[in-house]
Amino acid sequence: MSVSRIVFTPLNYVGWGSLEQLIPEVERFSPKKILVVTDPVLEKIGLVQRVIRPLTEQGYDVYVYSDVVPEPPLEIGEKLVSFTRQGRFDMVIGVGGGSAMDLAKLAAVLAVHEGPAADYLNLTGTKKVHKKGLPKILIPTTSGTGSEVTNISVLSLDTTKDVVTHDYLLADVAIVDPELTVSVPPRVTAATGIDALTHAVEAYVSVNASPTTDGLALQAIRLIARSLRKAVENGNDKQARIDMSNGSYLAGLAFFNAGVAGVHALAYPLGGQFHIPHGESNAVLLPYVMGYIRKSCAKRMADILNALGGNSSYLSEEEASYRCVEELERIVRDVGIPRTLGGFHIPETALERLTQDAVKQKRLLARSPLPLLEDDIRAIYRAAFDGVVAEPR
Ligand code: NAD
Repeated sequence: MSVSRIVFTPLNYVGWGSLEQLIPEVERFSPKKILVVTDPVLEKIGLVQRVIRPLTEQGYDVYVYSDVVPEPPLEIGEKLVSFTRQGRFDMVIGVGGGSAMDLAKLAAVLAVHEGPAADYLNLTGTKKVHKKGLPKILIPTTSGTGSEVTNISVLSLDTTKDVVTHDYLLADVAIVDPELTVSVPPRVTAATGIDALTHAVEAYVSVNASPTTDGLALQAIRLIARSLRKAVENGNDKQARIDMSNGSYLAGLAFFNAGVAGVHALAYPLGGQFHIPHGESNAVLLPYVMGYIRKSCAKRMADILNALGGNSSYLSEEEASYRCVEELERIVRDVGIPRTLGGFHIPETALERLTQDAVKQKRLLARSPLPLLEDDIRAIYRAAFDGVVAEPR
């Protein structure tokens, strides 16, 4: 009998209007000086003001740090960590997509540690996180990463990405209010939505999947399948935004506990080398990785097909797994994301370097139901370049 380690964030508010819970939650921690970590777009469109106005009206001393950029490089993380240490803040609130939330948790934890953030990276770091850090509240404004309920902070390096990870990076409170996502533009809605779908799909087929994460992942897939296209077509579709918020939140809980695998391992170098947004890197690879591994997890792929709205009852597991890949391809295409590496102007000459970087993502690759070795990874990138789903030889 296997034992699953299941960890959830201590407190989550999820639902339209849940931002109202911010003040009572901040009050619990009695902070004197609050750092809000966000990005310039959210400041410009007034979303940050909406979050902090009630705080300043209550007399809290609030400083807004809005220098976060998408897919934040390590250097931006280093700057924010130094700033947080010097500023003597006693609470951090992250407002934004995964980029802002990841840096908020990094800053909150490393504010009470010594040395650069680089020392704490998973692949190359030499130090371990050992203190909880400042209290942190995370408020997502995209429906995608699930960062509000995970214990990782992702940073872009020269050619790939790496993470700082520890349960101390978990938020004390996550506030998931779909109302904050209404302004997300269609292309970002599409990319972040496929990111959430990828989290759920990879968690469901992960070697670490458990009955707890299975339920979370399948419900996430159902919600995303029924509402992602609608949210991309009409950002004001309230029910679609609610479904996407719930879907990405559930997918976050699922993948945090079961892990993601091959899609993410191959997507990180695309982000690192070609600066493709995380959701789009996952989206372009999703059908090719799942097509390559489908026979190793055919029964689970059949379940995913059903959650996507298909019907596996008259199909063999093998046929259903094939249909599942087709359905994943269709949803990526319907939301307008290019379906080959060429669609992102990635040249054929790049495939070898991508392969060499993806091989290093051992933490992620270890969760794949089909072990993915160097030749497999090369074959999947080749398939994504040619636009033809490949299978192991
Ligand atoms: P993002 O945070 O980079 O935001 C993408 C763009 O959308 C930005 O320009 C931002 O300003 C804009 N935006 C965000 N919310 C908006 C809103 N409500 N209205 C209008 N514009 C809005 O994108 P993301 O996909 O949410 O996050 C990506 C990052 O998260 C990557 O670095 C990725 O590696 C990381 N990530 C982290 C985890 C985790 O568990 N920590 C999981 C997956 C991905």
